[in-house]
Amino acid sequence: MTPWMTTETGSQTVALKDNPPLVVTSVMPVCRLCKQNYPQSQFITGNGPRYQVCARCGVQHGLADPEDTPQLYSDEILNARLSLYTRRHLPWVSVLMGWILFLSIGRGIELWSGLFFGVLAISSLIIPVLHIMGKTRFLAELAKITP
Ligand SMILES: [Zn+2]
Repeated sequence: MTPWMTTETGSQTVALKDNPPLVVTSVMPVCRLCKQNYPQSQFITGNGPRYQVCARCGVQHGLADPEDTPQLYSDEILNARLSLYTRRHLPWVSVLMGWILFLSIGRGIELWSGLFFGVLAISSLIIPVLHIMGKTRFLAELAKITP
């Protein structure tokens, strides 16, 4: 949950409650090391060298432990999440592509059009069922790789 999401979806008072009073909701602070703007939640807390440093620079410069920065996904976790999402949604994409191909060029080819249509129709019926059946497992795996 990031502060700007609350600003857009919630009311102004909710957004102000979530942020420290010194931070204006529309202005995002700049990281001292990488000069990037981030929402306040992406900064590590502390004074001296840790002041105004984002979580990524904090970890890179040894100012913060990766365990102390749950807002930062490590590369491994990012890859794992990406491949999990890809595996989850690839069947939908392929069926959609299949239908687009079929509707644009796949019709009117003797024999093949019928086969193509049959495969598409069966996949379109099976994929939602598999999607619903795989939901619990997907959420379990996602929870495992969410810090
Ligand atoms: Zn930074």
